[in-house]
Amino acid sequence: MRNLEQPDIYHIPRICTACGGVMVFKGVGEYHCEDCGSVAYDDYGKVRLYLEGHPGANAVEVEKETGVSQKTIRQMLKEARLQVSEGSQTFLHCEMCGANIRYGRMCPACEEKYHRRMEEEQRHKNMHGFAMNQKGEEGQRRFMRGDKG
Ligand SMILES: [Zn+2]
Ligand SMILES: [Zn+2]
Repeated sequence: MRNLEQPDIYHIPRICTACGGVMVFKGVGEYHCEDCGSVAYDDYGKVRLYLEGHPGANAVEVEKETGVSQKTIRQMLKEARLQVSEGSQTFLHCEMCGANIRYGRMCPACEEKYHRRMEEEQRHKNMHGFAMNQKGEEGQRRFMRGDKG
């Protein structure tokens, strides 16, 4: 009897396609046939396997190559079932605009905007500091009078 209470969104292989034996879960989306030892993967296993061989792949490519829908891929990411390997830049989103990015926290455009804003803020801070130190003309005059020259 199948357990119908748990929706099988990951298409877990339960019956061996080669011999009809029972598939046993071996971890990380991998299943082995108890009888003949053939290996099968659920959607998670397929995606994980594909990303191992193609670390830079994006969701569209993964969907095309594994047949696993992007919706399922996103679901796995949400559940933190899917962990892209280190060095993989797949499925990252820009923190500012949400665009797909391959590395870092922001897309190049937002990163540039961000840095420009930081520089601007830094410049403002420096200007304020400068004005406070000089205290206007008086300070300048005193400085000139004391200057040996
Ligand atoms: Zn089998
Ligand atoms: Zn962006």
